[in-house]
Amino acid sequence: MHSEIKKVEFPNLSIITIPATQDNFMYLIVDKTSGEATVVDPVEPQRVLQVVNQEQVTLKSVLTTHHHWDHAGGNQKLVDLSVNENGNRLEVYGGDTRIEALTKPVAQGDIIQKPAVFTGDTLFIAGCGRFFEGTPPQMYDALITKLSSLPDDTLVFCGHEYTVSNLKFALSVEPDNQDVVNKLTWAENQRAGKKPTVPSTIAEEKRINPFMRVNLPSLQQRVGASDSINCMGTEEYCLTVPVRHFMSPVFLLNFILGGTI
Ligand SMILES: [Zn+2]
Repeated sequence: MHSEIKKVEFPNLSIITIPATQDNFMYLIVDKTSGEATVVDPVEPQRVLQVVNQEQVTLKSVLTTHHHWDHAGGNQKLVDLSVNENGNRLEVYGGDTRIEALTKPVAQGDIIQKPAVFTGDTLFIAGCGRFFEGTPPQMYDALITKLSSLPDDTLVFCGHEYTVSNLKFALSVEPDNQDVVNKLTWAENQRAGKKPTVPSTIAEEKRINPFMRVNLPSLQQRVGASDSINCMGTEEYCLTVPVRHFMSPVFLLNFILGGTI
């Protein structure tokens, strides 16, 4: 496992971070009142079910951030493994018909409640996905227009552990940003102990994430951009981002969860 399992407690629910593949995260969200649970991006179904058993909760549904195999590829197997004696099947929520085993399509903006957002490959801690399936204006819309307008205390649970390399890029474009320096030291310590760096918050991302800071004239100047969207599209931003994954802003789907699901 690339990281330890980590549990974040809220008054009515807990969110358990479960590592998968080389650097993916799955999340089990438990409603403490009902003992029911939902899993986000269960690419490794067996590992999810182990945690479900350990926690003695009842898995009811799957939330899928996007259709890529490392997020949606475990859906069908999990549904098959989870059919109970009554033949009840898990509901699979997602925003794209290409998502495996989808039963409940949802649209952008189907916000349930704060305090958490599951960003898949769109927003990472201190970074974002590559633009292979989208354009700088789409990324601007996703990161600045939509995600930045969430409440500051919204927790950010992203799809991969890329924080340290993202912060090194952040430091290259904003060498004087003390928040980035501090977060990098913290993240390196976390990773040395195999601890995950999720979650962050929207407020923190606004301080450390160069993709959420493209409105800053100083940052635009440094990468030779004329405006915010142009900044997202500069070679420095697009080609040197040390992220090995895609983003898919067209299929961006944010699940914001409250006490009940
Ligand atoms: Zn991914």
